[in-house]
Amino acid sequence: MHEMAVAQSLLDMVEEEIARQGCRRLDVAYVEYGALSGIVPESLQFCFEVMIRGTSHEGARLEMLCLPMRLRCSSCGNVFGGEGQEALWQACPGCGEQFGHAVVLGKELILSRLQIR
Ligand SMILES: [Zn+2]
Repeated sequence: MHEMAVAQSLLDMVEEEIARQGCRRLDVAYVEYGALSGIVPESLQFCFEVMIRGTSHEGARLEMLCLPMRLRCSSCGNVFGGEGQEALWQACPGCGEQFGHAVVLGKELILSRLQIR
């Protein structure tokens, strides 16, 4: 299951950072994810909660922020933004080209900030 693997890698990053700072418990993890990352915030949240149940992080939560995507036009090189999967096939505002846009931003998953103690 995709979300479970993502939650696990998030937790790995969190624990690494907590250990590095000499803390013990996570309160909030701020996560930014690209619109094309395939992440469903509710289900990631759920997986994360299941994973930390019974650990010192029990009750911690994720704050999820969706990053808008950026596309580069295959024809004129114009970079433009969009919301949602459909934006991949929108016409370029510069030249009208509709296909082959490259994804500049949109597939990332970033652990941006931690609230730990
Ligand atoms: Zn264009």
